[in-house]
Amino acid sequence: MADQTEPGSYFVANYPPFDRWSEAAVPEVRAAFEAVPTTAEMGLYLHIPFCRKRCKFCYFRVYTDVSAADVERYSQALAAEARLVTAQPAVAGRPLKYVYFGGGTPSFLSVRQLERLVAGLHESFGWDAAEEVTFECEPGTLSEPKVQALKQLGVTRLSLGVENFDDAILEANGRAHLSAEIFRSWEWIRRADFPSTNIDLIAGMVGETAESWQRSVEAALALEPDSLTIYQLELPFNTVFVKSSREEGTPTPVADWPTKRAWVDSAFDQFVAAGYAVSSGYTLVRDPEQVHFRYRDMLWEGSDLIALGVASFGHLSGVHYQNKTHWDDYLGAVEAGELPLHRGLAPSRRELLIRELVLGLKRGGIDTGRLAEKFGVDPLSEWGGVWQGLADEGYLEPLTPQSQPRLTRQGLLAVDRLLHRFFDA
Ligand code: SF4
Repeated sequence: MADQTEPGSYFVANYPPFDRWSEAAVPEVRAAFEAVPTTAEMGLYLHIPFCRKRCKFCYFRVYTDVSAADVERYSQALAAEARLVTAQPAVAGRPLKYVYFGGGTPSFLSVRQLERLVAGLHESFGWDAAEEVTFECEPGTLSEPKVQALKQLGVTRLSLGVENFDDAILEANGRAHLSAEIFRSWEWIRRADFPSTNIDLIAGMVGETAESWQRSVEAALALEPDSLTIYQLELPFNTVFVKSSREEGTPTPVADWPTKRAWVDSAFDQFVAAGYAVSSGYTLVRDPEQVHFRYRDMLWEGSDLIALGVASFGHLSGVHYQNKTHWDDYLGAVEAGELPLHRGLAPSRRELLIRELVLGLKRGGIDTGRLAEKFGVDPLSEWGGVWQGLADEGYLEPLTPQSQPRLTRQGLLAVDRLLHRFFDA
């Protein structure tokens, strides 16, 4: 494994990889929308592409210089897209099992904008049956009335993008918020008493040291979130950090992978000592019986995901798709009454099996019986050599005839770099 944090993407978000998705597959996406639904559960993802400032490590489709009129137009487009989507045979009348407001920064919207957006969505989608409504927040965009409004609007899982507690590090990485806003907003979040709260941290932000990381871990522990999510910083090519390091001919200033893994390992140890349980390569939860992440678990086990918004990713009846990735194209399509489809991919059964296998491993292990029953292939025998190799290198618990494959801590922390072994050539 290369140790340096070289420019590029290493996080495995889906399978087959996005470079295989194409505009040529859009007719297959349309056919999936027009067909009768499968028996899969269904969730909804909404992309809110606005941020106060662009983080220097960000590679998402976000807009930082927008007017209230832009936000209003976009919200109306989301509601219009919801009407278009729910008129499709594969979606009509189906209940939502989970809802996820992601971004960008969903909490960028004002209370009135949020209320109008949710009212517009509810004309098409009810989410009374949803087991979880997650909403991502940036600390500096919150106020106590906004936090209360989120609770009233039905948010059950509030996720706060803390990333780091050190002001110098937050500033060096272009984050819009500072630590005082984290502590202030956490009080409001605590008072609102959401069923579930999550804090995001990033290990290896520019300027991070072992000491500053330890202070962030202790600060996160003191807030007692229901779950903690830690990502290891990667540097895709279209980030400010990579562009400036290329212009200046300097190396990208991010800690190497072994250092980042050691930092996450230490954070995992400290949270486990405080009673948390590891629930994936990135997440710990306070009480595994009570604290769930339906979006992750259902999506990773093959649920349908209806995507709303510019550049949003969806999955319907086994077909992957992505919405148009530019503001004018997305809005133009929706305002013309068309599904704003950009590209897609109809994976084979084998590719869907690989997808569920690798996504399952990101949680630490798979249920081979479930996959064998669903896909008619036993993953243990199909990838026997890969499992053995992982075990030999210490990434997998020793396999016995009775056991299910489980990654070791070492394997979990490097999971995204191991999953390629299961990919087809
Ligand atoms: S808050 Fe998130 S989406 Fe917005 S610029 Fe930063 S990393 Fe990107």
